[in-house]
Amino acid sequence: MLDLKSLPKAHLHLHFAGSMKESTLRDLSKKYNISIPEKIYSNPFSSLPSSRRGWHLFQKLYDVALSCIKTEADFRRIIIEAADNDMKDGSKRLELQINPNDYLHIGKSLEGVLELALDQAKLSSRDTGVEIAIIVATSRTASAKEAEKTAQVASNYVGEQAGQVVAFGLSNDELAGRTKDFKQAFAIAKQAGLYSVPHGGELLGDEHIWQIVRALKPDRIGHGVRATVDHVMLEKLADDEIALEVCPTSNVALGVFQSHKQVPIRELLGSGVRFSINADDPLLFKSRLLDQYKLLRDVNGLFDREIIRVAKMSISSSFATYSQKTKWLKEIDNIKY
Ligand SMILES: [Zn+2]
Repeated sequence: MLDLKSLPKAHLHLHFAGSMKESTLRDLSKKYNISIPEKIYSNPFSSLPSSRRGWHLFQKLYDVALSCIKTEADFRRIIIEAADNDMKDGSKRLELQINPNDYLHIGKSLEGVLELALDQAKLSSRDTGVEIAIIVATSRTASAKEAEKTAQVASNYVGEQAGQVVAFGLSNDELAGRTKDFKQAFAIAKQAGLYSVPHGGELLGDEHIWQIVRALKPDRIGHGVRATVDHVMLEKLADDEIALEVCPTSNVALGVFQSHKQVPIRELLGSGVRFSINADDPLLFKSRLLDQYKLLRDVNGLFDREIIRVAKMSISSSFATYSQKTKWLKEIDNIKY
């Protein structure tokens, strides 16, 4: 049987604060005397009916976790631990998403926060062997002006390798803001050579994916899982080679699907659209990268050869260099199972 842990894979959708370990949150909250809702340590979403899950609770808990990252050392610790966890799960490439505007409270400029992330990404890549590139994300709650400024700053650090900014994202509540207001920010990022990776098609359906495709020219879409209801959309994504970053546990936690079985993994496999599977925010969803692969086997019933296909798609839809991708794909081909 295929060993999922040692299967080379790429992790393309992971948020900075959401990657935090529970023990780290306990440490930091104690150190700064910040009170943390106890439910963050259990599975805060599983006890709710799917109709009552959703963004509001998620954002509240995420913001508390974020407020515990106060110093440069705390900030570095998050990346060190994210890299370590990815290494343990067999990840070769991590594209870690961060909105530098969220961390100005550590006493640095936007550039300073980003340089800190890039520096630690480079160091942790060296220490763990997981190649870590950064996705700079703006928030759907930001003004167009703030988004454009963020894109401009990100544009100064463009590259595909460890410790470089590889893409520009759009995160936070999919129901907030207007997609078209971020068009200029994404144009700035694309012009500078950054890939476009907005969130969409999770809390809203395929109509919103169409809007995103038209306005933000995505190379990948964060989630996009609800595209499966629209065959014309699926054809468009396949033809234009726009990959999806599917996050199964996140979908269930936020009530997009009632159970893991309903996440349309088989439909995606048959669609011709490239996709990866990802953890999104393990601190809140209690499920890391390797767990997503276990679900493919245990809940979605994928055979080993199909799981290998998903791992290969995660690597091919990463923004690593051609030579790195070729190397990792070869490693997969050499696996005996
Ligand atoms: Zn996300």
